[in-house]
Amino acid sequence: MRYLITGGAGFIGSRLGEALLAGGHSLLVLDDLSTGSPPGAPAAAYGERYTFVRGSVLDRGLVDELVEQCDAVVHLAAAVGVRLVVERTLRSLATNVLGTEAVARAAHRFGRRLLLASTSEIYGKNADVPLREDSDRILGSPEVARWSYSEAKAVDESLVNAYHREHGLESVVVRFFNTVGPGQSPAYGMVIPRLVRQAVEDRPLTVYGNGLQTRCFMHVDDAVEGVLRLLEDERSIGGTFNLGSSEEISVLGLGRRVIELTGSNSEITFVPHEEAYGKHSEEPLRRVPDTTRVRKLTGWRPRRSLDDVLR
Ligand code: NAD
Repeated sequence: MRYLITGGAGFIGSRLGEALLAGGHSLLVLDDLSTGSPPGAPAAAYGERYTFVRGSVLDRGLVDELVEQCDAVVHLAAAVGVRLVVERTLRSLATNVLGTEAVARAAHRFGRRLLLASTSEIYGKNADVPLREDSDRILGSPEVARWSYSEAKAVDESLVNAYHREHGLESVVVRFFNTVGPGQSPAYGMVIPRLVRQAVEDRPLTVYGNGLQTRCFMHVDDAVEGVLRLLEDERSIGGTFNLGSSEEISVLGLGRRVIELTGSNSEITFVPHEEAYGKHSEEPLRRVPDTTRVRKLTGWRPRRSLDDVLR
C-alpha cells in the first residue's frame, strides 16, 4: 500500500512512517515543518518508497494531488502543543479545521480511506473516568469546553463522520491520549519531555498547580501499533477509538519518578497553572481512557509501562 501521512515529519508521524516502511509499504509525507523535523537518514534509506513533500494541508491543490497518488491517508497534521495553541489561537484553529476539511474532501473525492488523529481533549474538562467514546459530555457542551484546540478537533471529528455517513468515506477516528517517547520535543510544553530535561540538567522540576492532577502516558510505539491495527481492520471503518494507557499517575508522582530514574539532584517547584495555560488554566483533574472498544475489535493494548516510557 502507499500511505500519505500528513504531519508525517512530526513526533507520532515519523514513528508511524518508519513502521509502515518497515512493513513494506510506500510512504508519502506532507508536512510544512512548522513543528516537525526534516526527514533524516533512515527515511532516505528507503529510496523510492519514501517521498517527502514540504507543504501545507491548507494548500488544497497539493492535497488533492497527493491524496490521488496514495491508497490511504493518515491525517496527523495539526498545530499541536500548549504554547502554539495558546499564543496563536486563531491560526491554530484555521490549520486544524480547514486543513482537515481539505484532506477529508480529497479523500472523499478520490475514494481513499482516511484515519483522523483526534485527541482526548475532546473530553474537555470531563473527568468522569474512565472516559468512554459514547460519553455525551464532550465538546459542544459549555460545561466541558476548554480551549480552541479541542474545539477544532471536535469539528474535525464531526466533519469526517459526516463524510462517512453522508458520502460513504471510509474513515476512522482515533482519539490519542497523552503520547510520549523518543523524538518528542520539549519545546511543546509537554510534561514528560520538560520534566526529564529539567532533571538531567539538575534544574528544578516545574509542576503546575498542586500536582495532584493525574494523566496516563502511552508510549508512541504503542500508539503506532494501535493505528496500524485499526488501519488494517475493515471493521474499524466509521468508528471512533480511544488510544491510550490506563496507567494513571499524578503529575507530582511523575516528577518524583523522573528524579528517581535520572538520579537527579533536582527538587520540585510548584507553578500556578495560569503561568502555562493563561486563561485556559482549568485542567481536568483526571484523564483516563476506556480502551475496551479498540481492544475488543483488534486485541490492542499498550505493551509498554510508564517506566518504559520514561527510560
Ligand atoms: P507534532 O507537532 O510532532 O506533529 C504534527 C506535524 O504536523 C508536525 O510535523 C508539523 O510540522 C505538521 N504540521 C502542522 N501544521 C501543518 C500544516 N498546515 N500542513 C502540513 N503539516 C503541518 O505532533 P504529534 O504529537 O506528532 O501529533 C500528531 C497528531 O496527533 C496531531 O493531530 C495531534 O493533535 C494528535 N495528538 C497527539 C497527542 C500527543 O500526545 N502527542 C495527543 C492527542 C492528539
